[in-house]
Amino acid sequence: MFNRADYVSDKDWQKFLSFSKDLETPNIVINLHTIKQNFIRLKDSFPYARIYYAIKANPGEPVLKMLSEMGICFDIASRYELDRILKFDVSPDRLSYGNTIKKAKDIEYFYQKGVRMFATDSKEDLKNIAKYAPGSRVYVRILIDTSATADWPLSRKFGCHPDMAYDLIVMAKKLGLTPYGISFHVGSQQRDIGVWNDAIAKTKYLFNSLEVEEGIRLSMINMGGGFPANYVEPTNNLSEYAREITRYLEEDFGEEMPEIILEPGRSLVGDSGILTSEVVLISRKNNTALARWVYQDAGKFNGLVETLDEAIKYPVITEKDGGKETEVILAGPTCDSMDIMYENIKYKLPIDLKIGDKLYWLTTGAYTSTYASVEFNGFPPIKTYFME
Ligand SMILES: *Cc1c(COP(=O)(O)O)cnc(C)c1O
Repeated sequence: MFNRADYVSDKDWQKFLSFSKDLETPNIVINLHTIKQNFIRLKDSFPYARIYYAIKANPGEPVLKMLSEMGICFDIASRYELDRILKFDVSPDRLSYGNTIKKAKDIEYFYQKGVRMFATDSKEDLKNIAKYAPGSRVYVRILIDTSATADWPLSRKFGCHPDMAYDLIVMAKKLGLTPYGISFHVGSQQRDIGVWNDAIAKTKYLFNSLEVEEGIRLSMINMGGGFPANYVEPTNNLSEYAREITRYLEEDFGEEMPEIILEPGRSLVGDSGILTSEVVLISRKNNTALARWVYQDAGKFNGLVETLDEAIKYPVITEKDGGKETEVILAGPTCDSMDIMYENIKYKLPIDLKIGDKLYWLTTGAYTSTYASVEFNGFPPIKTYFME
């Protein structure tokens, strides 16, 4: 159904096969070299931007180590991510506490560790920042509804209406904080580049009105993530994203371009991963059923949670590809009936697929390894391996 070469080069595939041949399944193998290339490509596409890697996408220590040595900054969501990144001697001025939902004592912890950059989207959180991280730079996240065109929307829960963002910036100044800028996230795996235009226009409006009416000059736009990885559904290339988004910024800000921050997660690490599973059982629900159920040892609870609502569509390949294929329903190994990855979307697998065969889930480097249960049904979390 899928052409492996559209996703992984021959060279990387050979490297992967020899690296992974003796590993027990299920497992994820991350190709660090791919992440490095993706980072360089992103930097070249947005030469004016500072890049904060959203750690949650793949917090593997070899990933963090490599990226920190390449000079990247980090977007952090919890004190545990902070502890992890501090192991790599990253100075705190390269860190941003980007989660708008945080405990007062965690704000204090970040402040003690030297972090001076905080996201917010509410009054209560802003008051806590003023109290426990006095004088810090704050940026306010605005709400963007992007659910129509993002595969993993991230809307509703985060951000506030621009009118409220305005009030928060004014309040931040009164509380002795440094109003730094505006952030947004257009939704993860955002396939419609035009959504950035909308978000940038809202930001421009806030920059203007705050300067004219309040004398507050913001200096930064944090454009979040949303850049694509290579799944089944096609997207534009990163270079098209960069060209369009840069044009929107130039149209709105012209000569007075603020500092630009990007927070990529999926687009840096998604393409780096291959999840290998083993077929546990193949069956049919009645004697004349056309679709086979293919149960394998990875599922919603150990690595494939982003198949919820069949949102993220991973290319799946086997060693028997190339011949006749029939429809399958792909399910995981646990005793939970929601542990089904694809049922409405019709995946096809080789007719001669057998129990014990391997399935390769491509583009599984983001939101897989740690986005998993601890031991539901006794199954341990999926193991990750890193290949240079
Ligand atoms: C998850 C997240 C990101 C990363 O988004 P991607 O679409 O994976 O690039 C960036 N910023 C924030 C605040 C996030 O929560």
